Amino acid sequence: MSLATSSVLDVAPPLRRRPALSYELFPARSDAHFVALQETITHLEATQPDYVSVTSRIGQQNLNRVLELTDHVLSCTRLRPLVHLTGLGSTREELAHVVSALLDRGVRGVLALRGDAPPDYQPDEEEFPFGRYVVELIREIEASRSALLAAGRVAIGVAAYPHRHPESPSRQHDIEVLVSKERSGADFAITQVFFDPAVYTDLVRRARRAGLRMPIIPGVIPAVDPHRLRRLAELSGVEAPRDLLHALDSAESEAERRRIGVRFTVDLVRAVLDEGAPGLHLFTFNRHAEALDVLDSLDLDRWSSSLEGAA
Ligand code: FAD
Repeated sequence: MSLATSSVLDVAPPLRRRPALSYELFPARSDAHFVALQETITHLEATQPDYVSVTSRIGQQNLNRVLELTDHVLSCTRLRPLVHLTGLGSTREELAHVVSALLDRGVRGVLALRGDAPPDYQPDEEEFPFGRYVVELIREIEASRSALLAAGRVAIGVAAYPHRHPESPSRQHDIEVLVSKERSGADFAITQVFFDPAVYTDLVRRARRAGLRMPIIPGVIPAVDPHRLRRLAELSGVEAPRDLLHALDSAESEAERRRIGVRFTVDLVRAVLDEGAPGLHLFTFNRHAEALDVLDSLDLDRWSSSLEGAA
């Protein structure tokens, strides 16, 4: 076909960017919890997310529960799972075994992480101390299976930190680590929580300046539960704003508290989307109600066809 021939794209409007939508879930801790989790997934699926992520703990501690949830997502829903894989607590051989088990099930998305360990944890020399090595291992296994993966390679995500990672010497070091993860084969990053849109946009700006090309998806917690926000601050080092905590603490009813938290979250998400964020990853803590409240108020423009009007 001649390049001069007019095609449908010649008359099409510019492609509209559709924001990605995803939810983080954690594996059930008991059979009863798994039943409740399936109900949550049904509610979340109705919003047609692009994928749901399945967290895991270091080592192989909760591997069976991770696989249980992954299998449920694969066989009982139309959702795609993004399975978290942590480098600490496993040998290279054990990790390779898990990667192969995931690929055999049909998983094509992995979030490659170092993992969170107790403060006194001493990794032994067979463990992967950095997320980057998990990325490299997945790409190595993928290369050895390229014929089997002809209909879809693996999408690898990594973690990014709008605030400094608690063990990192500086935010600049965090950027260098992120760039090294992309060079090792990562396709996208999802951020740790943040509560100020400027902190996210600053991360993106500094990363782009350092040459990073991959999308950085904002990870956002529906900020409705002050106890959860305080617990999260202990774990991640990222504190929720005092004004927000005060407003949530002093709300006169559950409904009022939820309204305050949802409004804060929606404003945060709108601000980063307006600045060009490629989507939204909601940390649900396996609760659908607050996530759905946020989505209802956001009214994301996700459903119209991007080639609308092209014909
Ligand atoms: P890395 O990128 O390896 O960084 C870890 C530390 O090592 C950083 O301080 C970094 O600066 C430093 N570092 C990295 N490379 C080098 C190098 N070459 N030389 C010197 N220092 C270096 N944890 C879980 O256990 N399970 C989960 O399911 C999970 N899901 C998560 C999902 C998201 C979206 C995010 C943002 C985090 C998640 N975490 C999870 C937490 C994560 O595992 C921790 O934040 C962990 O402390 C770091 O993981 P990482 O992959 O970012 O590590």
